[in-house]
Amino acid sequence: MTVSAAPSATSDGASLVSRAQRSVERSEDQPAAAMLRRFRGPPPAELTEVRSTSSQAEQRRLDALSNYDILDTEAEPQFDLIVRLASELTGCPVAVINLIAENRVWTKAALGMARGEMERGQAYCSMVIESSRGLDIPDLRADPRTNQLPLTVEQGFIMYSGVPLCASCGQPIGTLAVLDSIPRRLTERQLDWLQQLGQQAMALLELRRKQRELQQAQTELQRLVHIDPLTGLMNLRAWREANVLEQERHSRWGGGHSVIALDLDHFKSVNDRYGHAAGDAVLQAVGGLLGQTFRRLDTVARIGGEEFGVLLPHTKAADALKLAEQLRSAVEQLRIPYGDTEITITASIGVAHSSEPNSRGRNALVLADERSYVAKRAGRNRVVSAGDGAETLTT
Ligand code: GH3
Ligand code: MG
Ligand code: MG
Repeated sequence: MTVSAAPSATSDGASLVSRAQRSVERSEDQPAAAMLRRFRGPPPAELTEVRSTSSQAEQRRLDALSNYDILDTEAEPQFDLIVRLASELTGCPVAVINLIAENRVWTKAALGMARGEMERGQAYCSMVIESSRGLDIPDLRADPRTNQLPLTVEQGFIMYSGVPLCASCGQPIGTLAVLDSIPRRLTERQLDWLQQLGQQAMALLELRRKQRELQQAQTELQRLVHIDPLTGLMNLRAWREANVLEQERHSRWGGGHSVIALDLDHFKSVNDRYGHAAGDAVLQAVGGLLGQTFRRLDTVARIGGEEFGVLLPHTKAADALKLAEQLRSAVEQLRIPYGDTEITITASIGVAHSSEPNSRGRNALVLADERSYVAKRAGRNRVVSAGDGAETLTT
């Protein structure tokens, strides 16, 4: 909280003192003893723990604060409304919502002063956190805790009243406070408003946190919908979406892309010989190899049981063929540890490009898939591409 504006410079231009006096004079603000006790009385037993000044307790408090991810965020109208209401309802020209970080006090919303931050030891609201209950100082000049603070000496604040903002776990993470430049005590009704507005500010913080969590969960869900859990590669759904997008891009802007379709050879016999878990280990090893081999902009997917696809945007047929051959060789060289044995595997691979002549309307995806079967029929462990218009085999 950088007090860049003098306390008398309220945002609506009204004189700080006259506004405060008007409010104090309001007859509706009569104290009620029970409420005063609640505000100024001893803290409830359940808050005893958070009053602890131990570093562990402080760490818990800081953890609670970080859950809200609020520090250094932009101003938000909902919080601005709360400080405006706090000012209106208490007649104080200055109202702030502060969050108390490790070493600094940062202002989320302010009326009558600028948003900013200040050293924790110089802020009145640090004391609210330390006591975990409301702090009501009718004359800051007369209180030994506050009479030397720059806010009192230099900025001319004379009255402070603040309530803690307590996270759902009970940890005090900030304050809602009002300030004035005349000595005064808030009425019971005003203190009650301040309490309620503090709860409202905390409810807003909670809502914000839950919205953020929901967004994160949605993003994660979106990710999981597109991921094959066994290999961590994209799944068939993501593969199809990526191909549709790429084909649209190709028909609109050209550019061309290549597709590699890979089918493991005699994979069923791995399962039959070593068991299903061994088959899974092979799929993971091949998936890992594929994931490492291609660029981040390529789409690498597991598109069937032991079938994989790679979509290579902006990749010429010759380059894709070279990559496919490297891949075939790398698969062949894999030594997949399983128990006290090592499993080996080979793959039949088809390669196609989006701008091939004689494709008879078949897109690269279909052509690559067809060619992986051609490779299979030709003896497996090989790559088939279009070559110069004719099917080319490499081993
Ligand atoms: P080919 O060389 O002709 O491709 O023969 P193949 O044995 O690789 O092909 P086939 O289609 O006969 O068998 C594929 C096998 O893959 C059958 C199926 O049980 C197995 N499979 C599919 N998904 C998984 C999986 O997630 N884990 C394991 N362990 N096996 C799987
Ligand atoms: Mg297959
Ligand atoms: Mg197979």
